Amino acid sequence: MFDTAIAGSLPKPAWLAETQKLWPQWKAEGAELAQAKLDATLLWIKMQEDAGLSVIGAGEQSRQHFVHKVEMGIRNDRYKAMVPQVVAPLKLKGRVHAAEARLLRAHTRRRIKFTLPGPMTIVDTVADRHYGDRVKLAFAFAELLNQEALALREDGVDVIQFDEPAFNVYMADAAAWGVQALERAAQGLGARSATSGRACRTAVHICYGYGIPANVDWKKTLGQEWRQYEQVFPALAASSIDQVSLECIHSHVPPELMALLAGKDVMVGVIDVASDVVETPAEVADAIGRALQYVPRERLIACTNCGLAPMSRAVAEAKLAALAQGAALAARRLDRG
Ligand SMILES: [Zn+2]
Repeated sequence: MFDTAIAGSLPKPAWLAETQKLWPQWKAEGAELAQAKLDATLLWIKMQEDAGLSVIGAGEQSRQHFVHKVEMGIRNDRYKAMVPQVVAPLKLKGRVHAAEARLLRAHTRRRIKFTLPGPMTIVDTVADRHYGDRVKLAFAFAELLNQEALALREDGVDVIQFDEPAFNVYMADAAAWGVQALERAAQGLGARSATSGRACRTAVHICYGYGIPANVDWKKTLGQEWRQYEQVFPALAASSIDQVSLECIHSHVPPELMALLAGKDVMVGVIDVASDVVETPAEVADAIGRALQYVPRERLIACTNCGLAPMSRAVAEAKLAALAQGAALAARRLDRG
């Protein structure tokens, strides 16, 4: 059997937030909102289990994309967003994701994955008014991410994934320092904790973004072959990160680029997040079959191309089922030889 997992986000129920929006407004506030976020997380744990996924995520039900402060062009000006400002040395006020991670651990016996934004992507999503140096700022964020990630290991999280869509935009910087900043964020997670004895697998998700118009337009400028991964994968292959999540199905990424990740677990995107058309299990199994030319069977994890957040719940649920059924079909095809 192949492991199956989502890249990260899932749609928020209509009672939690506005639907089919990437930056939705919450429908409640205070303690009521905190409870609603946990209830939505619980709902998606059940949905992922029922669909048959082997690794369960929190679906990012507690997260609204960015804190709103100042407008800035992000991902090399592909879109404008209201972003937070850094005005003083960074430090964490306390735990960030303890409630969702503990809820996730308490309500499934399957392995659990938790996602955090990667340092380079955070740097691309905030306005720096203090450090005056992207690399320094990235390493400052990496230290804070590491604190939270080490605490998530204690909460019982099995896989900690950092999302780095910025790696696909600033490829030279990613290879020069982005991967190092990522390793700083993941430092020590793979070792057994002295207190709990727990260890984590570490992962990075690199994608071409959600299926929103700004991204769809950007993808049209990338040409027939998307070779961005080619510049970053060698640095990742040489890094301490265990797993790499990438786009595959319906993308223009040449599948042979997966061969650059020798020695890593590869989360292959076999569910398209830019289309509401639900894949058939056969299509998913075919995509897995193509990836198996470059990724050994024991290292392949079937995954979604990116998060499912902007979709309708019904489509997302159907896509989770297609993912699990397609992975099962691919395994049966292999066993038949
Ligand atoms: Zn993504």
